[in-house]
Amino acid sequence: MSQLSSVILHERPSAVTRALVPDGIHLVSGPSRLNLAGFCRECLQGSCRDEAACVAKWGRYIWVVCTICDGVGELNDDGLPLDDPGEFGTTCRNCTDGVMEWMRS
Ligand SMILES: [Zn+2]
Ligand SMILES: [Zn+2]
Repeated sequence: MSQLSSVILHERPSAVTRALVPDGIHLVSGPSRLNLAGFCRECLQGSCRDEAACVAKWGRYIWVVCTICDGVGELNDDGLPLDDPGEFGTTCRNCTDGVMEWMRS
């Protein structure tokens, strides 16, 4: 994993990053470190005690399209990606807005 320490995420995936993800798994840029309410997804605080550390840690995740919900973010009663907008789904617990952490560099 040490070879990954220089990978900078939230940029175009480098060849090194791409090589870590098998065919059929789609690399994406991850969600922002702060959720929509302004809380840090790394330390779970509204105001980070060490923001620089949170930024650095968050930047080391490699994100891909969720393999459970195919990026939809919601599942139907059968546990398959929701595809009917008239149907109530349940939020996919495997991802954040359709993207999931693949690994941390
Ligand atoms: Zn934080
Ligand atoms: Zn999902």
